[in-house]
Amino acid sequence: MNLSDKKLWIFDVDNTLIKDIEHPKPFKDALTLWKALSEKGYELAILTNVGRLSSRQVQKSLAKAGFEIPSDRVFTAGAAAAAYVHNRSPGARCFVISEGGAREDFVARGLDVTNNPPIDFVAVGADRGMTFDELNFATKMVKEGSPLICISGSRDYPGVYLGTDGIFIGERSIVAAIEDATGAQAVIVGKPLPEIVVETVKILNQQSSDTVLVGDNPNSDIAGGNAAGVTTVLVKRNPDDIVPYDSGDMDATPSVTVKSLDELISQI
Ligand SMILES: [Mg+2]
Repeated sequence: MNLSDKKLWIFDVDNTLIKDIEHPKPFKDALTLWKALSEKGYELAILTNVGRLSSRQVQKSLAKAGFEIPSDRVFTAGAAAAAYVHNRSPGARCFVISEGGAREDFVARGLDVTNNPPIDFVAVGADRGMTFDELNFATKMVKEGSPLICISGSRDYPGVYLGTDGIFIGERSIVAAIEDATGAQAVIVGKPLPEIVVETVKILNQQSSDTVLVGDNPNSDIAGGNAAGVTTVLVKRNPDDIVPYDSGDMDATPSVTVKSLDELISQI
């Protein structure tokens, strides 16, 4: 496939550009492609399902690994969730469970992040310091009618927290507890939700037909990209490092599959 007529390249982060956000070691093939795309003047952007860190924090981590990009071209699941709430209710009062990143993205969108009722929206991201009281309060607010938003949809994920390297329970699993206790169903804002891909393309003033989305995960990156009408590139990484997501009956077949991202250089 010839990709030279594309204008915008959107990249996933974890297991595509770097090992993961808390182990920001770059993949060499990704860095080579990134530099080639930059030199040729393609537009670059980031769309990550990480919700515990803000766009600014993700941008810093990427810069350290050699991927230079302005933070207004870095789209996180937290920023997407904030946009989702803002589009429905600007300035809404939100109870946000997350490690600070999503809170920062919510505040940046002009939403009122608060720990006291009344609560218009409950938004839950991965949070390894979450307390029982927070989970209980979120459950109570959802029971009383606040819509529940799951910031991205991973059941578990690898990372480092308080110096411990390991696998941690993800936001989808925390939200499952609230759903079970309330009977409510969360809206999952993160890949593979096609709207966030469409929205990212639109914010950058591009067309889906001119856009390539590159990722390691068929069920999040590829399914979401296909449904949004962009060209999808799957890079084959270590299968053990692919975070589990649910893509339902969406098509997770990539337009292009590569073992190494530098294989694409001859096509740009
Ligand atoms: Mg990934």
